[in-house]
Amino acid sequence: MNFYENTLKNMNKAAKIMKLDQETLDTLSYPQKTLMVNLQVRMDSGEMKYFEAYRVQHSELRGPFKGGIRYLPNVDLDEIKALATEMTFKCAVAGIPYGGGKGGVCCNAKEMSKGELERLTRKYVQAVYQVIGPNHDIPAPDMYTTPQIMAWFMDEYSRLVNQYSPGVVTGKPIEVGGSLGRGTATAQGGAYVLEEYMKRHDMKAEGTTVIVQGFGNAGSFAAEILHSMGFTVVGVSDSKGGLYNEKGMDPFCIVKSKKEKGSVTNCDEGKAVGPMEILEKPCDILVLAAMENQVTEANMKNIKAKIILELANGPTIAEADEYLSKQGVVIIPDILANSGGVTVSYFEWLQNQQAYYWPLEEVEVKLKRAIIEALVRILDLQNEHKCTLREAAYISAFDRLDKALKLRGSGAHLRCKVYNK
Ligand code: GLU
Repeated sequence: MNFYENTLKNMNKAAKIMKLDQETLDTLSYPQKTLMVNLQVRMDSGEMKYFEAYRVQHSELRGPFKGGIRYLPNVDLDEIKALATEMTFKCAVAGIPYGGGKGGVCCNAKEMSKGELERLTRKYVQAVYQVIGPNHDIPAPDMYTTPQIMAWFMDEYSRLVNQYSPGVVTGKPIEVGGSLGRGTATAQGGAYVLEEYMKRHDMKAEGTTVIVQGFGNAGSFAAEILHSMGFTVVGVSDSKGGLYNEKGMDPFCIVKSKKEKGSVTNCDEGKAVGPMEILEKPCDILVLAAMENQVTEANMKNIKAKIILELANGPTIAEADEYLSKQGVVIIPDILANSGGVTVSYFEWLQNQQAYYWPLEEVEVKLKRAIIEALVRILDLQNEHKCTLREAAYISAFDRLDKALKLRGSGAHLRCKVYNK
């Protein structure tokens, strides 16, 4: 189950349906540049530790490279390449003027102190600052990278280039150039898409049950937002396990309990179940907000949901995607469903460029308009090509990328496989 191969499979399927120019497909099947570095960080114990780190710049055809950085113990190059590729397609689906990129550091953020995380982050910036920038490559948060980490990132970069540069990174705290609404944007965007999709298919939130896998930034806000919209949240989970109650639970209580006790499983709103078992429990809508490769050949036959909303990147592998689609399960794909995050990142960057900050209502109205426009375009393409939403989403992105490539010329996607500073 290679995440990068999975992404290429998704691209190939869509390319075939739309009869995409082979040259465009080939061009976008490789990242432009890959940076691999080793970060040397002094730990609190006095010991020196080494961390492998990456930045993959997939495509800048439609604008600067854009995409988060994840801090995870087993990050590898293929994973970052897949995520960088997905970012190119996500930004094109969302219609925002960015390409795609992604970064990662192999580390266990959960076990590191604040000081260690700060030193690691500053080291990462020192390693990449010559190849990023507000008009070239703009990182952001991803798994286990917080607004605080983005603040250190911006601070270190500004110091190195001797210029206050809030636009070099998004997902910052409000006090240092962040945007209102960025924290909840991934979940909020997904909720807007789901609501619009359901409206068009005569479905209502009331009486509709939801399970949310993952309780980080995307999952916890998704549970709260969907509950507030009238959905019945019957299940949630985090890395330690799941919590289920067929009668419904209050996600606000679960958030509070997780803060106090460390996991959703310790909350008395429901009964504890296994972390993977939660995916197979009865529900109408399954929100995948944990990580890649969650719905696979091993569990696809046990999924009961009729709609899957992918707030994580790459949570459904190609075989499961095909099987479930044939069974009539509607999968709202990651590159659309979670594009609210990068869309508000774009708004944050715009505000930074203008040094003029918008009220929350403006962010929300613009996000809703943008993501619904992206959905409508995909629904039209789905109708035209009689394909799945994922295929239509890739077609939507390919169409924009292909046009950009043809207009700019073949030199636009410069490939330089690996470079080490
Ligand atoms: N990490 C998020 C994603 O995968 C956000 C990226 C961004 O805001 O640039 O979409």
